[in-house]
Amino acid sequence: MNWVTIIWSMVASACLTLALTHLLIWLKRRQAWASLLFFVSATGTSLLALDELWMMRSQSIAEYTSAIRWLHPPAFLVIVALVGFVRVYMRAGRRWLAWAVLGVRAVSLVLNFILTPNLNYSRITGLHQVQFFGDSVSVVEGVPSRWMLVGQFSFILWIIFVADAAVSVWRRGERRRALTLGGSIIFFAIVGSVYAVLTLWKVIDYPVMASLFYMAIILSMAYELSYDSARAIKMGQDLEESEHRMELAAEAAHLGVWVRDLTSNEIWASDRWRSMFGFSKSEPLNLNLLLQQIHPHDRDTFRQVLAEVQEGKGYETEYRVLLPSGKVCWIASRGQVELNDRGKPVRVLGLSIDITQRKVAELEAQQQRWELAHLSRVTMLGELSGSMAHELNQPLMAILSNAQAAQRFMAHEDVDLDEVRDILADIVDQDNRAGEIIHRLRLLLKKGEVQQQPVDVNDAVREVLRLIHGDLVNQGVTTHTELAPVLPTVNGDRVQLQQVLLNLLMNASDAMSQNGPANRQIVIRTELADGLSVRFSVSDCGIGVDPGKLEEVFEPFFSTKAQGLGLGLSVCRTIISAHAGKLWAINNPDGGATFSFTLPVNSEAAPS
Ligand code: ADP
Repeated sequence: MNWVTIIWSMVASACLTLALTHLLIWLKRRQAWASLLFFVSATGTSLLALDELWMMRSQSIAEYTSAIRWLHPPAFLVIVALVGFVRVYMRAGRRWLAWAVLGVRAVSLVLNFILTPNLNYSRITGLHQVQFFGDSVSVVEGVPSRWMLVGQFSFILWIIFVADAAVSVWRRGERRRALTLGGSIIFFAIVGSVYAVLTLWKVIDYPVMASLFYMAIILSMAYELSYDSARAIKMGQDLEESEHRMELAAEAAHLGVWVRDLTSNEIWASDRWRSMFGFSKSEPLNLNLLLQQIHPHDRDTFRQVLAEVQEGKGYETEYRVLLPSGKVCWIASRGQVELNDRGKPVRVLGLSIDITQRKVAELEAQQQRWELAHLSRVTMLGELSGSMAHELNQPLMAILSNAQAAQRFMAHEDVDLDEVRDILADIVDQDNRAGEIIHRLRLLLKKGEVQQQPVDVNDAVREVLRLIHGDLVNQGVTTHTELAPVLPTVNGDRVQLQQVLLNLLMNASDAMSQNGPANRQIVIRTELADGLSVRFSVSDCGIGVDPGKLEEVFEPFFSTKAQGLGLGLSVCRTIISAHAGKLWAINNPDGGATFSFTLPVNSEAAPS
């Protein structure tokens, strides 16, 4: 039986098959350098096997000499590829050692072609047949060359390089890889080299069979690579499953998912996202099309978000979408930016959800809050109507008596026109005064839109004091104002802020109703607190608030007054919160309570 031919052909074809498989893998995925290196080393081993077969079947010295010389190029290929494989796949091995192995090996390859007959022998004297694997094969007789040591030195360097790489892979924690790959390369390289030395230096009379040892190394490499592929397939399946689960979860949570490529500006989006923005399932998407769907009022904000994304920042935003049907939808969107190795944004991944229902409910709730605020204002002004009527009565009385005086003057024959002019001027003044009171009242009673404007808190305090003046006088309350001479404006609705001031002042006055006439005093202060907010406070010397109820007084329907609705303070707190401020109460150490609120300074306005 021709066993040697059978075995060596099998080794050659097995290596070639493995080599081609990995060549295909590399052609499909050009970054898979490990596969390319595997292809080179397996092809080299296959060529080695064929060359060895040629040597064993050589019939003449000349044929054997050529065969042994041509053993070196595939051996060189295999060593180069294996060094590369260790560097690329195991991500280990000292660079200088790698270059040393390749350099020495290259020198031995060159020497092999310079020297006669080759690197291994200085003289080949004959051939003889030996029994090998039950077959008869040719073995050389000759004088080994000293230059062969160069080749053997390259093997020693190679083994050191791999051992060093295996140690660092082991230390890195990848013990299995260090053992299977590093261990098998070292083991077979040592055994193969010893065998080669023994045969080449004629210690044993056997043919060269390096390809069998390389084949063992190739098999361990193939095992490692297929282990990786199996793991990649498993990871791929897991990823697909988790993607599917994520899609289901997103669908169940009514979330639209989208991905935007920042270089092409193309958008991939789930079906739900498309329907949220009024796109059909197959329509190609891009940023311009998306911008057209955004409500014109929200486009600037949206563009600002887009600019932030270009800087690599994630975002969270809410905007309106104007659907082709004319329907307006509110969308909440959250995006995360993916950066490349150089930190440049390449993709945005995002989630969007339709929050129209929530927004409508929020707007309705806000509307109701303002209506309640208005109602409570009207109720409060109703309480003031007595003193208002009194305030109005004074100018009206003055107008009446002036008009009567004018009538009397007119009854005379020689009418003193100067006197009549003075009387008329007085009538106009008084009328203006009455008109002003009515104007102020109308403003407060008006159920208008909440208007944001710069408000001077000191001015608002003065105006409210004018309005409530009569009521305070009736109740025997005296007021002291300590208004900050320079106070920045705040941003807000003037009428609502006056409502708060009015409410706090009326409560302070109510709290002192049991005090003696000399002890009914209110101190009103405005000041700039910590440079960022305006603080208003009103202190009275009334009954104070039950210490356990300092928070409860702000709850709706909390009242200790017989006729009280208990809505005033809760409405005040809603108003102040809507203005990004805080309202709270404390008891004064010497009796009475202080109610204070802070409002953020209007950053765009200069101090007044
Ligand atoms: P109402 O005035 O209709 O009772 P408010 O919400 O304005 O409703 O006030 C709730 C409660 O807070 C009052 O009934 C009173 O017990 C307490 N309160 C408010 N201001 C003062 C104050 N300056 N001193 C003592 N208690 C106060």
